[in-house]
Amino acid sequence: MKTVSDLNVVATTCPYCGVGCGVLATVDDSGHVSVRGDPDHPANQGRLCSKGAALADTVAPVDRFLHPMVRGQRVSWDEATTAVAEGLARTIAEHGPEAVAFYVSGQLLTEDYYVANKLMKGFIGAANIDTNSRLCMASSVAGHQRVFGADVVPGCYEDFEQADLLVLVGSNTAWCHPVIFQRIARAREARPELQIVVIDPRRTATCELADLHLALRPGTDVMLFDGLLDYLRRNDHFDYDFIERSTEGLGEALAAARASAPSIPAVASECGLEESDVVRFYRLFAQTAKALTVFSQGVNQSSAGTDKVNGIINCHLATGRIGRPGMGPFSITGQPNAMGGREVGGMANQLAAHMRFEDAGAVERVSRFWQAPRMAIAPGHKAVDMFEAVAAGKVRALWIMATNPAVTLPDADRFRAAMARCDLVVVSDCTHTDTTRLAHVLLPAATWGEKDGTVTNSERRISRQRPFLPAPGEARPDWWIITQVARRMGFAAQFPYERPADVFREHARLSGFENGGSRAFDIGALGDLDDVGYDCLRPVQWPVSPAAPAGTPRLFTSGRFCTPSGRARLIATAARPPAHPAGGDYPLSLNTGRIRDQWHTMTRTGRSARLTTHKPEPYVEVHPDDAREYGLPHDGLARIETRWGAMLARVSVTPEQRRGSLFVPMHWNERFAGAGRVDALVNPAVDPVSGQPELKHTPARIKPYRAVWHAFVFVRDRAERGAMGFAGTTCVGYWVRIPGPQFQRYELAGEQVPDWLPWTRGLFGADADGEWLEMADRGAGTYRAALLSQSALQACIFAAPYPRPLTGRDWIEQLFSDTKELGAGQRRRLLAGSPGSGPRTSGWTVCACFSVGDITIREAIAAQGLDSVEAIGRTLRAGTNCGSCIPELKSMLSAFAPGTNRRRSAPD
Ligand code: SF4
Repeated sequence: MKTVSDLNVVATTCPYCGVGCGVLATVDDSGHVSVRGDPDHPANQGRLCSKGAALADTVAPVDRFLHPMVRGQRVSWDEATTAVAEGLARTIAEHGPEAVAFYVSGQLLTEDYYVANKLMKGFIGAANIDTNSRLCMASSVAGHQRVFGADVVPGCYEDFEQADLLVLVGSNTAWCHPVIFQRIARAREARPELQIVVIDPRRTATCELADLHLALRPGTDVMLFDGLLDYLRRNDHFDYDFIERSTEGLGEALAAARASAPSIPAVASECGLEESDVVRFYRLFAQTAKALTVFSQGVNQSSAGTDKVNGIINCHLATGRIGRPGMGPFSITGQPNAMGGREVGGMANQLAAHMRFEDAGAVERVSRFWQAPRMAIAPGHKAVDMFEAVAAGKVRALWIMATNPAVTLPDADRFRAAMARCDLVVVSDCTHTDTTRLAHVLLPAATWGEKDGTVTNSERRISRQRPFLPAPGEARPDWWIITQVARRMGFAAQFPYERPADVFREHARLSGFENGGSRAFDIGALGDLDDVGYDCLRPVQWPVSPAAPAGTPRLFTSGRFCTPSGRARLIATAARPPAHPAGGDYPLSLNTGRIRDQWHTMTRTGRSARLTTHKPEPYVEVHPDDAREYGLPHDGLARIETRWGAMLARVSVTPEQRRGSLFVPMHWNERFAGAGRVDALVNPAVDPVSGQPELKHTPARIKPYRAVWHAFVFVRDRAERGAMGFAGTTCVGYWVRIPGPQFQRYELAGEQVPDWLPWTRGLFGADADGEWLEMADRGAGTYRAALLSQSALQACIFAAPYPRPLTGRDWIEQLFSDTKELGAGQRRRLLAGSPGSGPRTSGWTVCACFSVGDITIREAIAAQGLDSVEAIGRTLRAGTNCGSCIPELKSMLSAFAPGTNRRRSAPD
């Protein structure tokens, strides 16, 4: 095992998704960082996806906050933490503890989370701490608690390899949890008989492995699983021994399912599926004992998310398919430490260490353990409610840590305005975001590569994040910052932490405190780890107790659950429509989600040039029939509108999108795009049980954005230039920034043609020292200009009245990577807007590791008769490193390989 003490190689954990891959980070003598997958980490066994493989690109301290700031003035840490402590104390004195709230993040380490939760619930005296994980997996938490009596994922990743049937529901695993997808792909290669069913309104990259894809109508999952429960009963697939011994509530659940899904034709009709496909899925599930149902945000992010989770789990309980290898319900979390946050109680409706406010004696027990003077006694505001309380003036002091709610909350513009009116906004973060602009107090936080602590992945595995870089400037870890504030509020004795190991030990002891087997989350056996033991802690799955000192891969193996009766509860679920059904002026269903190479609001992945090339612009996927109906050309621009907001996006016409639905990625924000924040359009309806917002469905409409000019701009430098003066200018309606290795590229469009020469010279900051090249064709409406300095290209613009063919981006990129002077021929070609015989475009990037574009791949498939992923890999190297692009390569092979009739409607 590698530890921080091993020369230059540090074993740590990826900071992105809930797979929780082990990473080996190396810093060489020149300070250069490289990363590779940790072959000893059980979650990934040496593999990384495209995001993990590019981690080293993102660690340079560009744009980092280096010093604490109070109302725009640089201050010392003492002054900053005193200002926060006094601000919180003043708010409590004037308005009560309920006027204070913390909004935290699945990016925090468990130690950070623990200290924040303790300060809020034990010492401020309210439970107003909630997390961006509420937007991600709160419905799974609520579903688990209703059924199991605790928030427990019963299985482990080995179950993916041991199952005979994998049902992936609302999970684009290939893009959102790629290393899990690679494990599934290998399991399929080893055992071709493994059956895979994908249930998702979209045909995603995950469907490349599917034997059956059920493209159900958005929001009808409960109906589908209610129908399955009834089918299992009617066809005698219930495990009555297990039901009798280990469950309760079957009668009510079954009655509700039959009322909800009275027949297979009714299910097929409501879900928008072929009856034969519904029957095929039901038969597969019924006849396959080792069935694993994997679900993710497509299930959780719904106003019926908790019922969807419970509908799935009901089917596993009724058939006794839980607690044994290769079977069970399996929630995969979105964030690296969503699970750790759940463990410490970092959600407003939890207390601590998986104890809940409703549990008899729990509040008193935690209060006694913490020696807390002002213990919260009831749940606080969940995320959306918290920001509603900010908007209503009930929350007057808000501390936001490691997250960007100005972008990610539903109805984001309204909540952004509410934050701007809040008396005190404290933000702990490491770099500029849309949210940090709203901060009165800005606290520079350490980030991945600098932080020291633990995270828990989707299979309950606790792993260490270890530092391998010094934090720049005065940046500090979050647990330290919160501790300093707590001490200045008068709680020094209860916040004595000097190192993360101190926090971890206390967290572990609380989990075992008066537990006696009553709570599944128990890592009490780790409560006595010394500092060396903490440093060397190997990845381990909780519970870690005296009875299971090496951890516990699988729970509920004995058929006993965490409810007072020891029985799992089947839950009556009834299908219901989304909170705001599509129709009338908003006939379409807007769905949001992740893409393969970006993470959250791009604050980290947006720094990697190779990750920005896969999907460089905010886009909207539209079915070809809808595209025809609404007059949307592929690669044109569209305006998407809902009752809550509007945005602009590039149109991608694809039959993989369901008719009547739109899909837009969640990542873009004002640092990368002028009008690309999809969550400003999302309705704020939440699941009544979990409080999770309905991010997968908002009624919407779409129309073409009729730009009269389009352009791309390149500017030499890697530093962010934000809107570069576009914001506020009437001629630019659409702009997107795409960071490159030596440049920033911008895609622009507008409804009013600029006065090109003065506008462009102003944009580029052209002065007398620069050499200016210009070509304008008024008849054709085209314009090109370039700024050279010492004969090297500094900036250029290519503009035309149409988006295509505005080609040449690859060629211009090449000119920027060349440091040599531009010769006369290149200058002529620049003005002509053509590379001549120079490099041809390779298209959008499919393989981020080796920068291989789709045109290159398609041409190689056609010209060289490539007929397999391996052949593409041998010829172009695509797909031979992290493997994240393999589903797309397979999709291209099936569309373009010789002898294939199928052709995508989406052109280049
Ligand atoms: Fe990181 Fe990718 Fe592994 Fe997720 S699958 S933890 S993003 S390397």
